Amino acid sequence: MVTPALVADRAACRGAGQCAFNAPELFDQDEEEGLVVVLQPFPSAEQLTTARTAVDSCPNRAIALTSAAPPATGARPSSPRAGSRWRAPSRSGDRSPRSDRSPS
Ligand code: SF4
Repeated sequence: MVTPALVADRAACRGAGQCAFNAPELFDQDEEEGLVVVLQPFPSAEQLTTARTAVDSCPNRAIALTSAAPPATGARPSSPRAGSRWRAPSRSGDRSPRSDRSPS
């Protein structure tokens, strides 16, 4: 079964924040550099339209929605940008420093 997966190239990210603005349930930005953090690497069927909107809105093409099957051995989805560094999605989801904060 093919599961769509969100991947992010933090080396290409410039912290514009369009992804987190368009899909706050899927993306956040870290507090140190403002770079993208994938909150939900495997979006649900209901989240796919939002995920595609976020991917299309990124001015640096730093995020992508792959159609690769999730790796069983820890292999990473292919990158749309040659030579870039990718964060592999994890089943448990990436955790953002912002999501760890308690409400103030
Ligand atoms: S992934 Fe793209 S839209 Fe999101 S913060 Fe980085 S540059 Fe901005």
